[in-house]
Amino acid sequence: MQFEVFTLLPEIFPSYLDTSIIKRARERGLISVRVHNIRDYTHDKHHTTDDTPYGGGGGMVMKPEPVFEAIETVLSVAEGQPFDAAQGEVVSPIPIILLTPQGRVFNQNIAQELSQHKRIALLCGRYEGIDERIREHLVTDEISIGDYVLTGGELPALILIDAISRLLPEVLGDPTGAEDDSHAMGLLEYPHYTRPPEFRGWKVPDVLLTGAHAKIDKWRREQALLRTLMKRPDMLAKAELTKADLKFLKSLESEEKSDK
Ligand code: SAM
Repeated sequence: MQFEVFTLLPEIFPSYLDTSIIKRARERGLISVRVHNIRDYTHDKHHTTDDTPYGGGGGMVMKPEPVFEAIETVLSVAEGQPFDAAQGEVVSPIPIILLTPQGRVFNQNIAQELSQHKRIALLCGRYEGIDERIREHLVTDEISIGDYVLTGGELPALILIDAISRLLPEVLGDPTGAEDDSHAMGLLEYPHYTRPPEFRGWKVPDVLLTGAHAKIDKWRREQALLRTLMKRPDMLAKAELTKADLKFLKSLESEEKSDK
């Protein structure tokens, strides 16, 4: 999978991309991340990428010309080619994603959806954001990483790259590694323990030391249900639950009632 990142601050990216799983995925050719400096697509003496907003007010706005030129050049798209998803005219098979607090809120399903593409472009805003014409006529999708405002889209872009990459085949050492993760199956993941079996008097649950895989699987499923119920009951409503899951949840309910 190839990520094309467009930013005014390319220096933010190398340290994260050169570390751990993402580094290994890049070295093995499972993913490729190309970071493009929007400033390289300016033509004036001062390499201007922003300007004051029409209508007044504070802050600066990213200018349309270098952003259009950068993305059109890198993605080899003809100038002025319509990309407006709202008008059903998306000719770019490559999603051009604007990172913005106004976008659809990123989650595991969106990561899964985007992991199906061979190539995606990520546009990072700065200052007050981008000129609206970029959003209207170039961008095909808008993603937010949560209901708060950051100074730029670079951390959100790295978050997307990370979450999407770990869903791709062979990126994780354990091929089933992402299957049980929180949110992958609509539940939070069960708790993990490692050696020692006892630490400061706190013991690892006996069942995990038995080696009885069926029992361990049952315990893990129940723990996942329990934590989702405690921490994110909203998720349970949408999760795919088996008869055994429902029975377990019911037993918790009756336990709670008898405790009162
Ligand atoms: N004035 C903009 C607004 O109120 O919608 C916010 C601009 S923000 C200071 C600068 C840039 O940071 C944005 O263009 C966007 O790329 C990025 N950004 C900030 N918060 C974000 C979030 N929650 N998710 C994704 N990107 C975000």
